[in-house]
Amino acid sequence: MKSIAIIGGGVAGLEAATNLSRMGFSVTVIEEKDQPGGKLNQWHALFPNRRPAAEVLASLKNHAKLGINMMLNTRVENIEKNDDGFALALNHNRMITAHAVLLATGFELFDASKKEEYGYGIYDNVITSVDLEQAFEKGIIKTAEGKIPKKIGFIHCVGSRDEKAGNPHCSKVCCITGVKQAIELKERIPDSEIFMFYMDLRMFGRHFEELYKEAQVKHHIQFIRGRLSEAFENQDNTVMIKIEDTLLAKPLKMNLDLLVLLVGMQPSRGIDKILHDLEVEKDADGFLKQADSQLTPSKTNVPGVFAVGTVTGPKTIGETISDARAVTLEIANYLHNKVASKILKNESYFI
Ligand SMILES: Cc1cc2nc3c(=O)[nH]c(=O)nc-3n(C[C@H](O)[C@H](O)[C@H](O)COP(=O)(O)OP(=O)(O)OC[C@H]3O[C@@H](n4cnc5c(N)ncnc54)[C@H](O)[C@@H]3O)c2cc1C
Ligand code: SF4
Repeated sequence: MKSIAIIGGGVAGLEAATNLSRMGFSVTVIEEKDQPGGKLNQWHALFPNRRPAAEVLASLKNHAKLGINMMLNTRVENIEKNDDGFALALNHNRMITAHAVLLATGFELFDASKKEEYGYGIYDNVITSVDLEQAFEKGIIKTAEGKIPKKIGFIHCVGSRDEKAGNPHCSKVCCITGVKQAIELKERIPDSEIFMFYMDLRMFGRHFEELYKEAQVKHHIQFIRGRLSEAFENQDNTVMIKIEDTLLAKPLKMNLDLLVLLVGMQPSRGIDKILHDLEVEKDADGFLKQADSQLTPSKTNVPGVFAVGTVTGPKTIGETISDARAVTLEIANYLHNKVASKILKNESYFI
């Protein structure tokens, strides 16, 4: 039986594992954390339909139960390519072999404390969209002093579209995440005032525009085109922000009870050793290079090594699922062609 080692057990890894296993391959998922699901474990409700993230996670985990060897708390120490496929040395002196390798190691969240001028990790009432998602999950939306925030600001593009932060790309999901979170805040705190400070709004997906309209028309959330230059903490722990309103070409100052930084996705740096061992190339933006971004997006430059999900760039969950289904076909074709070419070689040997 042909075997596949999937490194990473997030949305991409789980969905690909389920489909490859259903196709009759032997599948091992290597996940470094103590549970599968990746970042989905950190989200409360999903855009655009606000479905509980736990529901999607449970479905993915449930499907991935059958016939898959799930190795949690496991790290790849070394990978070698050989004539038959790959040999993977894992932690605790374990070893597995595989005929193909699928990289599903996902993305890293931008560390907002790197933008010191925004005050994350310095001022108590500056939080990230990830912190807010976890506060929704706990059901507690309060300032650090335990008050209900009444004036809340969101800053778009934190660590994305930012050459200085090393991430010139757009993270794609943070505009709509911000809109979804602003609506949820307004529903929980109806007398709050909410301001979104953006450079551009990228509502690219189906039903995203409707959510954006709902935010403005139904919830009176205010969208201001502007760039945050600095945030300061006042004596009462509120946060004062300085913004350049780029439509009115005027500077603006505002006091907020809570400032939310919409952090984006960046390439995972934790897989550099694996990439080095396999000689897999990255693109200029740091995400993995696709052999052909139109025709074979899940192939890497190395035969037998495939990539899926956000390891090749920002994606929504729906896009990640589609990508995972597509990669299963690429892998099946590769493994079948390999078998066919071996049979052909043997035939010519006997002639
Ligand atoms: C703030 C925010 C909110 C979002 N909200 C939504 C939403 O509401 N709706 C939506 O459609 N999308 C949302 N997304 C996007 C969504 O999170 C991604 O589409 C999804 O997580 C991609 O899955 P993935 O498997 O590619 O990566 P990940 O979720 O990053 O999973 C990667 C997995 O690989 C593991 N891993 C990494 N390195 C190794 C290694 N070396 N060895 C072993 N395992 C490893 C990790 O532990 C993890 O389990 C959001 C993104 C952000 C940033
Ligand atoms: S999705 Fe929006 S907030 Fe995120 S990087 Fe792109 S433009 Fe900025």
